[in-house]
Amino acid sequence: MEQKFTYIGKIADTIKSLATGLSVTMKEFFTPKVTEQYPENRKTLKISDRHRAMLYMPLDEEGNNRCIACGLCQSNCPNGTITIKTRTVVDQETGKSKKVLEEYIYDLGSCMYCQLCVNVCPKDAIAFNNCFENAVFDRNKLIIKLNK
Ligand code: SF4
Ligand code: SF4
Repeated sequence: MEQKFTYIGKIADTIKSLATGLSVTMKEFFTPKVTEQYPENRKTLKISDRHRAMLYMPLDEEGNNRCIACGLCQSNCPNGTITIKTRTVVDQETGKSKKVLEEYIYDLGSCMYCQLCVNVCPKDAIAFNNCFENAVFDRNKLIIKLNK
């Protein structure tokens, strides 16, 4: 049903709207500023530990990555961001052949930081760091070999 305003009612409604808007403006005017002056504040900048900036391979106590080349991360990545190259070796103890990691290729440019790869990894062999300054002019530079 169409609502009818009187002339005085419309003026009162307009003044009320104006007062509401101005009260927000005045509140923000006196609120302390929190703008981060990046990159000038780079040395004191605190990025949350949980920030997902880039995949990396944490090393164990002996300096080796924990990847067993199972391929779960690669097959669970929705964007095809991970490419695992493996080779087959013969285990000296058991005499059985097994796959080992040759190259772990990560395309940062196509990663959407969903963390599915990290969650499915049975060995905690991959994780996200919070190194966020990854801008480059050439997208090919975002394709990175993670295992050293
Ligand atoms: S975070 Fe998501 S998109 Fe990025 S590599 Fe892992 S599974 Fe793929
Ligand atoms: S990083 Fe984890 S999930 Fe991916 S291949 Fe290695 S062990 Fe498997």
